[in-house]
Amino acid sequence: MLETPAPTAPRFRSGAGRICLDFMRTLRLRGMDGATEELDSADALAAWVVQLGPYPDGVAISAPTSEVLREARAVREAVHALLTAARSPAGPVGCPPGERELLNRTAAAAPPVPGLAADGTMTWTAGDPVGAVLADIARDALLLATSPALNRLRACSGPHCAAWFLDTSRPGNRRWCSMDTCGNRSKKQTWRTKHAPAMGS
Ligand SMILES: [Zn+2]
Repeated sequence: MLETPAPTAPRFRSGAGRICLDFMRTLRLRGMDGATEELDSADALAAWVVQLGPYPDGVAISAPTSEVLREARAVREAVHALLTAARSPAGPVGCPPGERELLNRTAAAAPPVPGLAADGTMTWTAGDPVGAVLADIARDALLLATSPALNRLRACSGPHCAAWFLDTSRPGNRRWCSMDTCGNRSKKQTWRTKHAPAMGS
């Protein structure tokens, strides 16, 4: 009997609730010890677009130029700057002008275009698949920073996690970017703390 191979974990983390937040976390542990650049090559950026972009499975996306990679990282940091300002008392007006202009310029490019095939399936395409996804990310960040959803933007309570996420829970009291990782770890930590004296040492 053939065993089903265990599903491989996706390379990049997702589930923050907005594409701009998932993109932001490609700099893992931002501002902490062990901060890691996940977009460390043009291939990595292409792989992120394949995993989290809207294009059909199996579509090959060629690696962008190193200039586009630099631009993508700059867009990511601009998203962070905008949302940091938006969450502060200053609000979105506190976004530095250079970052604001970069986001506006990026958002002005053509996003992925939906198309309905004769068989009823919908697919997304773009002449410039990476640029189109960056346009989507910039639009998403601008919309998030200026909408009531901003009140639901949270930083994960995980002690070794710098991810931000959109809390879509009804009571609005979600604390972790993911129950599978940080939430689960926290529960285990709580359990250990609670039971440590009884376990002796
Ligand atoms: Zn987390």
